[in-house]
Amino acid sequence: MKRLLTIVFVLGSCVASAQAPPVYKDPHHRQVLYTNWFRILDVNIPAGEMGHEHAHERDVATVAIMNAQTRVRTPGAEWGPPRERAIGSLNATQYTGTPGAHTIQNLDKIPYRLIAVTNERESGWSTLTPMKAAGTTIAQQTRAFILYDVKLDAATPESDHNHQRPTVTVLVSGSVENQGDGGTEPFRIQEPGRWIYTPAGGHTLRTVAGTAAHAVEFEVR
Ligand SMILES: [Zn+2]
Repeated sequence: MKRLLTIVFVLGSCVASAQAPPVYKDPHHRQVLYTNWFRILDVNIPAGEMGHEHAHERDVATVAIMNAQTRVRTPGAEWGPPRERAIGSLNATQYTGTPGAHTIQNLDKIPYRLIAVTNERESGWSTLTPMKAAGTTIAQQTRAFILYDVKLDAATPESDHNHQRPTVTVLVSGSVENQGDGGTEPFRIQEPGRWIYTPAGGHTLRTVAGTAAHAVEFEVR
């Protein structure tokens, strides 16, 4: 009987996660760009609100823009403990082949805000050598992403580099000017959470008047 109950419980969990809509259909995970290779989601759960239950089927990486305290519940389980992420912290989770579902609740008085990038490949992630550039360090490498921290200031005012794969740059703090290859006009982003998409190719990120700026980059493998 105990084994039967276990089987019923496991089946119940599978059905629950299969029924949860994909993360990009959750209104608190607004899809702001979708290509053949990746999606960008603007995650924003207002203070005190609970998000919708949603399923993750593809590898995802996120950067924290506002560090509200949250808790997470997986189908059929209790709420997990409160958790907090430092602004600018990066996190990557492998879901392709091992999907998962959950609900996120914002326990705080400020919004819970992330920018998330999914890698839509089912397999065959590209292998590429990480790029090297001034003010730019590798934060994390997974099968689906290379994540970089770009920290600029008066001493290191620009990072001029090449991406072999499509890349999403997200501003965490300060202001940066972005200029692509081919003589494009530079443009400025200055609001935390603003992002830039760069197809494979080169671009330059510069501080504005030498002030400190922090951006992160998601190279989609
Ligand atoms: Zn870049």
